[in-house]
Amino acid sequence: MNAVARLTDPEVEARPWSQQAAVDDPAYRREVAHLFADSRFYKKKLTDAGFRSVADIGGLADIAALPFTEKDELRATRTPDEPVGTHLIPPLSEIARIFSTSGTTGTPSYVPLTREDLADWVTVSRRSYGASGVTAGNRLVSTYGAGPFVAGVTLDTFNAIGVTHIPVGASATDRLVAAVRLLHADTVALTPSYALHIAEWCAERGIELRAEKVERLLVAGEPGGGEPATRARLEEAWGADVTEAMGIGDICVSLWGECTEKHGMHFSGRGFVHFELIDPDTGAPVEMKDGAEGELVYTHLRHRAAPLLRFRSRDHVVVWTSACACGRTAPRVRCIGRTDDMLIVRGVNVFPTALRQIVNEFSPAVSGTIAVRPRIKGFRQDPPLPVVVEVAEGGSTTDAALAERIRARVREALTVATEITLVPYASLPRTTYKAHLVDWSGAA
Ligand SMILES: [Zn+2]
Repeated sequence: MNAVARLTDPEVEARPWSQQAAVDDPAYRREVAHLFADSRFYKKKLTDAGFRSVADIGGLADIAALPFTEKDELRATRTPDEPVGTHLIPPLSEIARIFSTSGTTGTPSYVPLTREDLADWVTVSRRSYGASGVTAGNRLVSTYGAGPFVAGVTLDTFNAIGVTHIPVGASATDRLVAAVRLLHADTVALTPSYALHIAEWCAERGIELRAEKVERLLVAGEPGGGEPATRARLEEAWGADVTEAMGIGDICVSLWGECTEKHGMHFSGRGFVHFELIDPDTGAPVEMKDGAEGELVYTHLRHRAAPLLRFRSRDHVVVWTSACACGRTAPRVRCIGRTDDMLIVRGVNVFPTALRQIVNEFSPAVSGTIAVRPRIKGFRQDPPLPVVVEVAEGGSTTDAALAERIRARVREALTVATEITLVPYASLPRTTYKAHLVDWSGAA
């Protein structure tokens, strides 16, 4: 079978990327006209920014002149009468589903979808999972506690693809391992933190995961599955290929999906979403080319319920645009970290996930679990930045040479001074969902 034949939507996914903006421009203009006429949020926002008419806004080539949309702005328009916010366009009676996003503030944000929006999300998500090689007949265990969250759309997607879906829910390790051993699942969808936890859990019980039938781990929900050392450890423990996917609640689920070439996640939202790369500090556009880094910004092209323009994702990525052997022509990304988690140490941007990746180079001497423990509250920190590193099982916490080698390597790679403290294996908390890499409990 040739590679292109495996694409979910060959016409879309193999179209030269250079043509995409021209294909998307009419949809973008329609969406902007719709927002200007029907979205109270954008009517005000665009008027306040000096755009008096749709004609002032122009097409996709002019998008960088428009203001960004921040999550907090949407939140600020919510009232008891308008629980979703003023960016909601149709009446709630026309909304098919309302997902929640787990806000850090306690009150959830709502993501409304019409029936057509839901169908579009399933289309995007099918491309994304299709890129990872998931096909009808696969026996797939899912672990997402997906009910209220946008990951719930993956359940519709698994139906649409035609897999034999075995949902085991979140944090049900014994049930998951039973499904792998008794039902001979070949595919497991979970967070990379949880995949590592299960590998440790099985090792402690003498269960040989590698001997089971799992061929493919689909990881999502946090960065980490793309870090080379983490991926190598997962592939070794499970005897399976690891690919990752990434979405964003307010825009679309599974918007990026990694193909079996395993060199970054392809953009799967062609025709539905436009994305830009920006410098998170200045907001200036960053040219999309191999190795470029920046924050992803998204614009809906045909969303009905609550369309967004230039929505800042806070996801910091590296991009590749060179050809991929799978035949998909869309750019690929790897998420380096959340801009929200970024610390600035004497002017240097430090992502905790990037620190973990470097520490992981010292595997098998380290377990791969770390915690950054800032001394003061806030993202600005003074050097040296305290980092706690867990050693491997049976490893020594008094190995000063190891701590020094890690410190020197971090300094070389990230140009940041750290203070490395080694702690015993399994002494840092394990999470079965997303890893928390920054421990603020000791910050003054
Ligand atoms: Zn590819």
